[in-house]
Amino acid sequence: MTETAFPAGATARRPQISFEFFPPKTADMEAGLWQTIQRLAPLCPSFVSVTYGAGGSTRERTHATITRILAETDLLPAAHLTCVGAGRGEIDDVISHYHQAGVRHIVALRGDPAGGPGTPYAAHPDGYRSSAELVAGIKRLHPDIEVSVSAYPEKHPESRDFDADIDGLKAKVDAGASRAITQFFFDNDLYWRYLDRVRARGIDIPIVPGILPVQNFKQARGFAGRAGASLPDWLADKFEGLDDDPETRKLVAATVAAGQVQNLAKHGVDAFHFYTMNRADLVFAISHLLGLRPSAQQAA
Ligand code: FAD
Repeated sequence: MTETAFPAGATARRPQISFEFFPPKTADMEAGLWQTIQRLAPLCPSFVSVTYGAGGSTRERTHATITRILAETDLLPAAHLTCVGAGRGEIDDVISHYHQAGVRHIVALRGDPAGGPGTPYAAHPDGYRSSAELVAGIKRLHPDIEVSVSAYPEKHPESRDFDADIDGLKAKVDAGASRAITQFFFDNDLYWRYLDRVRARGIDIPIVPGILPVQNFKQARGFAGRAGASLPDWLADKFEGLDDDPETRKLVAATVAAGQVQNLAKHGVDAFHFYTMNRADLVFAISHLLGLRPSAQQAA
């Protein structure tokens, strides 16, 4: 590891945190998400992001969640948006709709192939062909929208090699992206090696580590398989025998994720993006261990 996650000149400060949510499918899930938002909002995240799916109903759920965050909280929402299954006109309408609603931050992604991860990707015939094109489209329509993009410490599974992967990141930065959020990883060396490669390529935007607190090891293994992220043996060992012991699992999960973020923070990382899975408990505990305390003014 030779560099910090932030450009030279950045000074030590309170860690910046951001939280990722997925749009709820049912009334019960929506109630759960709002409890989570109320618990986490006082930690003053720099933004909260809401993921986006390919089908029409999942898109509407993203819009509805973003709209409610804007209406009922002081949080700054970042709407995820993908190129999948829609022409440019339709995507441009979504961007402008968000802008009109007050959204000033989009997480721009290509999205997964319609057949799921591992199947060949085919761009929509009239659509944005890549995430870099989508970033450029957003910036052309609304230059005041901040654009974040993805980054892959273990390279994207479809990338030929790391050079090709970092070419993709460079194209997104050249198109106007000002932050990258990483796929989750559990071995911090993967992040440092990736950061070295990115900085060597002259990319100087923040590369914010994406942290997945392991609520459920089997589920994390499924996510990792689909995302091309590795699960180290030491992690499997720590969760061994805990399938039916949620209380111990939670303590272990908090210890593992807190160790990971504290190690990153010790080496200069000062921003973290948490994949919350719409649950507050672990993320709140880990943020506390990072030194963050709730502020009464920021309650949702
Ligand atoms: P891209 O950056 O578009 O890269 C995809 C592939 O194309 C890579 O192999 C890359 O190397 C290659 N590539 C692209 N441009 C170039 C170039 N110019 N030169 C060389 N190679 C290039 N999915 C959703 O459906 N909804 C979400 O809300 C969502 N949120 C996400 C948030 C984060 C932080 C992350 C890390 C992922 C998210 N995903 C989401 C998953 C993502 O959509 C998939 O991983 C998808 O397969 C790739 O989209 P991308 O924008 O991440 O990748």
